Amino acid sequence: MVQSAVLGYPRIGTGRSVKKAIESYWAGKSTAEELQQVAKNVRKERWESMKNAGVDIIPSGEFTLYDQLLDHSYNFGVIPERYASQNLSGLDTYFAMGRGRQDKAKGVDVVACEMGKFFDSNYHVVKVPHSPNTTFKLNNNQQLAEYEEAKALGIITRPVLFGPITYLALVAKSRDAPADFEPLSLLDNLLPVYKELLQQLKDAGVESVQIDEPILVTDKAEAWGAQYKKVYEALAPVSPKITLTTPYGRIGKSIEFVKDLPIHALHIDLNREPGQLDAVLAALKPTKINIELGIVSGRNIWKTDLKAAKALAEKAIKELGADRVVVSTSSSLLHTPISLKVETKLTPEQVSWLAFAEEKCEEVATLAAALNGNETAAFEQNTKDIAARREFERTSDSAVRDRVANITEEQLSRKAPFPERREAQKKHLNLPKFATTTIGSFPQTKEIRLARAKFGKGEITKEQYEKAMEDEIKYAVDFQEKTGLDLFVHGEPERNDMVQYFGEQLNGFIFTQLGWVQSYGSRYVRPPIVVSDVSRSQPMTVRWSAYAQSLTQKPMKGMLTGPVTILNWSFPRADVSKEVQSKQLALALRDEVVDLANAGIKAIQVDEPAIREGLPLRKEDWDAYLKWAVDSFRLSTSGVENDIQVHSHFCYSDFGDIFPSIQRLDADVISIEASKADLKLLDVFKAHGYSNEIGPGVYDIHSPRVPSEQEIKDRIAAMVKVLPADLLVVNPDCGLKTRGWKETEESLQNLVAAARWARETYA
Ligand code: GLN
Ligand code: ZN
Repeated sequence: MVQSAVLGYPRIGTGRSVKKAIESYWAGKSTAEELQQVAKNVRKERWESMKNAGVDIIPSGEFTLYDQLLDHSYNFGVIPERYASQNLSGLDTYFAMGRGRQDKAKGVDVVACEMGKFFDSNYHVVKVPHSPNTTFKLNNNQQLAEYEEAKALGIITRPVLFGPITYLALVAKSRDAPADFEPLSLLDNLLPVYKELLQQLKDAGVESVQIDEPILVTDKAEAWGAQYKKVYEALAPVSPKITLTTPYGRIGKSIEFVKDLPIHALHIDLNREPGQLDAVLAALKPTKINIELGIVSGRNIWKTDLKAAKALAEKAIKELGADRVVVSTSSSLLHTPISLKVETKLTPEQVSWLAFAEEKCEEVATLAAALNGNETAAFEQNTKDIAARREFERTSDSAVRDRVANITEEQLSRKAPFPERREAQKKHLNLPKFATTTIGSFPQTKEIRLARAKFGKGEITKEQYEKAMEDEIKYAVDFQEKTGLDLFVHGEPERNDMVQYFGEQLNGFIFTQLGWVQSYGSRYVRPPIVVSDVSRSQPMTVRWSAYAQSLTQKPMKGMLTGPVTILNWSFPRADVSKEVQSKQLALALRDEVVDLANAGIKAIQVDEPAIREGLPLRKEDWDAYLKWAVDSFRLSTSGVENDIQVHSHFCYSDFGDIFPSIQRLDADVISIEASKADLKLLDVFKAHGYSNEIGPGVYDIHSPRVPSEQEIKDRIAAMVKVLPADLLVVNPDCGLKTRGWKETEESLQNLVAAARWARETYA
């Protein structure tokens, strides 16, 4: 019999109950016990939802109050001294590691551990620093506790944990560790903890565990065959049956050693990489390893084509027999919203296209039933829905399709090369050396959010709302005037979110009301969904930028979100390539850029903070991605005359490995987050050089502290050492929307003073 499985489930709770409970606890409005009670209820709700959907193999142990990787570190006793020494409760220590803790009265002031993107998703893990002295001790067997908790409810689960190699590959290196230290060298010290944890599960009667090793879909794991052998040969004898999972990509050459591991089953991601099935089946056939087919997408929200899925699974059954096949999700469902049932504003047709976590659980169960000879009504309904969606997909916007098909080389380049453009821009914008600017947003105050909420509910008119936004813009312009910045921004008060704002104005997107997905900790996002060809009906930002420009003689910078970022932070459609979707977006933005220029805006910034996170996990796929990503940016920005200064902005990641592509964007000016990683980025400039204007962020906006004038001068001095002084622009490292006005004012005053100093010092 074919069984159905789910690798993991959203942990945010229906109605965002987990967020609410955590934030209430942080605010001191509820107790730890109350928080734990909510967590317990949510775990129950999750297990029951999977059970009711008919899923055979239900996960446990992957619930978290903040982040799953952080849970592992905490459970393994990896608690850096700066947290351990605070004498906090266990729960507070855990949260301090995740988000830092400041309690002036008690003299507590610790920063959070660093966060990093989880593979190529928009989810972030907390990376606890490890050093050669790190020791491990099983503090808390969360997998066992949750298994017992589910069992008490009458639900038998499969405990889930990260494998030791993936764990060590994801955690951070401590700052004071030697430069050549690799956390993977701690493997021998870590193994006993895994043995103990798994032995306890086995003793408790747990039949099988799910060990996630997504690092196996990256290139570097190919060299770790010996480590994998050692780990799994040590764990297998003391562990329940092991299903090893490899979500987010293809296992590639690593199958050569994985097929020899003493594991019960291997899960592969067939949603991302359907092409790997044959090779994996061939490798597993002579072994005793079963296969778990990750068919139902854990990353996107489209209904699975169950007929096609069935045909794929039948291939596996033919090779290995039904008893050796499980059908499953491609990854944990944590990247998808919980349920479609609560969406009241989507049309029945739109609902029929989609599957969120709850519906995905039904899909794996329906698929398993069909493979076992029982094609249920749900299966038939799926066939009809898929056919209807295919029908809809045929109704393309031919004007948009033609425009994409006819993109020319010429459209991908500015009219003249940078040095020539620069001269024209100098005349047009008249900016000083070490020009000061900001990244776009100014504080999104309570008043702004309130006005937006009122407008949404119809409590104020459109005119009243727009007047309120204009007042905000005027405040921002006056402030920049007073402070002496050089290149102004309007401040983005009218934007709820840098992606949603554009999605709402473009054709081709739909929005959920409650489709929240965890981004990190208690921060959830609601990604728009691309459902059809994307186009622009009318200008989206011109009225705001033009109004802002009308208030000042200083040049105003127009502000747009770039095509790659809009796409990466949405759920893309599955029937058209990302490249085509990105180019459709780029063409819509190209028209906006031209309209801004025609409205008298002399500088236009197109943000691409997500360009790095979309980078494929396998290096051999990089070039193809970078080609269309860079082309999309160039397409969106190249429609204007030489004297228009095109800016772009990057943050959230290490850009070292794609720096040549950043150069190829050929933006006249880029601003880039550089203040956190100890100006590590400057080494990259040293290595590659950079020929256009550039503003490495001079202070970290993610914390409420005000940088001193001296600190900013020091940053500038460090930059002048590696970059030509006349290419430097002075700016913070990201938008200021999460900050308050007071700290923003003080910080920017210091920034302006430091830039004036630089002008004199490096004249
Ligand atoms: N222009 C945007 C802002 O300032 C950029 C945000 C970002 O980089 N994430 O808010
Ligand atoms: Zn940014």
